[in-house]
Amino acid sequence: MITIDLRSDTVTRPTPGMLDAMKTADVGDDVFGEDPTVKRLEEKIASMFGMEAGLFVPSGTMGNQLCVKVQTGPGDEVIIDETGHIFNYETGAAAHLSSVQLRALVGEKGKLTPELIEPAIRPGNEWDPRSALISLENSTNKGGGACYRREELTAIRSLADKYEIPIHLDGARIWNAMEATGIEPEFFSTIADTISVCFSKGLGAPVGSMILGPGQLVKRARRYRKMWGGGMRQVGLLAAAAEYAVDQHRKLLADDHRRAKKLAEALAGMESFEVDPSTIETNIVLFDTPGRSAATVVEELAAKGVGMVPFGPQTVRATFHFQVSDEQLDEAIGRLADS
Ligand SMILES: *Cc1c(COP(=O)(O)O)cnc(C)c1O
Repeated sequence: MITIDLRSDTVTRPTPGMLDAMKTADVGDDVFGEDPTVKRLEEKIASMFGMEAGLFVPSGTMGNQLCVKVQTGPGDEVIIDETGHIFNYETGAAAHLSSVQLRALVGEKGKLTPELIEPAIRPGNEWDPRSALISLENSTNKGGGACYRREELTAIRSLADKYEIPIHLDGARIWNAMEATGIEPEFFSTIADTISVCFSKGLGAPVGSMILGPGQLVKRARRYRKMWGGGMRQVGLLAAAAEYAVDQHRKLLADDHRRAKKLAEALAGMESFEVDPSTIETNIVLFDTPGRSAATVVEELAAKGVGMVPFGPQTVRATFHFQVSDEQLDEAIGRLADS
């Protein structure tokens, strides 16, 4: 049985305080626009990020896909890093739901640069797909939790402005990125046209993400959310959990980052594993298992009660969240040392 669960930051359980917030939430039918709690959360997060409007959605995947949908047309092209969540982990939804193709570039730790993006922008011939959207991820998932610096984002924005291409920011873990870089939420409204943020990753809500953007776009996204089966009724129950997560759990992310770093430092000292601890920026640790398959290592660890996931043929991912304590971390390090 897995007793120390580092498989993902999505495995958290609601806390008693969160359940209390859900129990006492004032709710209504949000398809009728009558749920005060979800409305309050949409206004709160939109204003936190300096964006015009917000829309609560059931998952990060739906959030990303809605943002692609309202900013592209059939046959368009979306520029993205080859490790991007939208490219790898959303069941090819962009092709199906928006009829777009993804132009996957080879960036560094999941991050793109103007130098990489500019040559990928189509010249606009009649026969070219239209370069309709640039999609960035911050922090990166498959890129090992790396974060963009302010200047890197500003440079990409300038390029996007030059070609008049909107930017979508997949901010599933933007909370971790803000913790790691000290960048304030409003800054991202100067970079991105649309942002999606998750409440159910490191913040620990059971369900929920939100998209942020201009009022007109969010209004169209609301229609597609309904079409795709994401119109929810007394959703204030979930919004209350999400609001509690933002208010109470955001401050715990720094500890997750500290623990991730400590795990990486311990792994770096072990024969069987390889990782450069200086590359660990947030709550994700990607490490290599030279000479052994990641799947085997993960199986062995699971047998010892430590949960991680294979993230490449010889790469394993460990992800921290607030329900892993310092004691559990030390215990996990001990079990890794004799594997
Ligand atoms: C988890 C994640 C999402 C959304 O995932 P859901 O499981 O659909 O909520 C989107 N982008 C990134 C980078 C993620 O890590």
